Amino acid sequence: MQLGLEGKVVVVCGASRGIGFAAAELFAADGAELVIVSRNATSLDAAAARLRATGASVAQVVADLSAADGPAHVVDGVMRLHGRADVLVTNTGGPVTGSALGHDWSAWQAASELLLRSAVELTRAFVPGMQERRWGRVIGITSIAVKKPVPSLVLSNSLRAAVTGFFRTLADEVAPDGVTVNTVLPGYTATERLDELATATMQRAGITREAVFDRWRAATPAARLGTPQEVASAIVYLASVHAGFMTGQALCVDGGASGTLL
Ligand code: NAD
Repeated sequence: MQLGLEGKVVVVCGASRGIGFAAAELFAADGAELVIVSRNATSLDAAAARLRATGASVAQVVADLSAADGPAHVVDGVMRLHGRADVLVTNTGGPVTGSALGHDWSAWQAASELLLRSAVELTRAFVPGMQERRWGRVIGITSIAVKKPVPSLVLSNSLRAAVTGFFRTLADEVAPDGVTVNTVLPGYTATERLDELATATMQRAGITREAVFDRWRAATPAARLGTPQEVASAIVYLASVHAGFMTGQALCVDGGASGTLL
């Protein structure tokens, strides 16, 4: 299916690997003017090279979205390159693992900056231009933690909810201007992030890596992990011209793992 995004400026954050990279690949295939963002120059260069090898138009901005000046750096870079963003995908790595009482305030603050501030600041910078042009798409990557808290991930469980509240509020405010705002909630998806979580879980639970993955498969009615491409397909659909009447939604791509009625 064509996304109808040819010539649109699409900014994908956290795009050097995993779900963000998979989304960038699909946007690139549709002829978008792509800007990919990540904090590590070497891995971002490698990701951009892979995308350009397909003939795609790709620019990159290196920025640490957990740093105070990270979001502004992305905005400066995108405005210098294209003067606007038509589609914004907010995404970073996940926060550290830990129990509800296990983090001091500095860890809560760091997770807020990584997940909440980056989403809020990028959105506040780019959405007014979308409203003026009467077309725009914002897609926030969160987690099934929004539907069902994940054990030992209190920072993710709490801050993804805050991000969802922000986007859900925004969705109604900008809908009359032709801007849609949705979130995508990945379930257990085979990326390097999940490998890192497996290591933390092995150490905490004293079980093997295979046992950790068995638990995740058992918690998923589809009895397997998702692929980054499966999550990316939902992201690009929400960005596409076909999804113009869909806003304020939190779309799970989780093989049924959230287990909720809605
Ligand atoms: P990942 O860790 O594999 O990739 C994250 C990307 O974000 C990378 O490109 C990384 O360089 C970039 N990044 C990380 N920190 C950054 C920062 N401070 N500034 C700029 N860029 C930064 O993650 P993923 O598995 O692709 O997941 C994407 C998001 O979805 C994460 O927030 C993750 O927690 C969430 N999620 C993932 C899963 C899963 O099973 N993989 C499940 C639920 C939610």
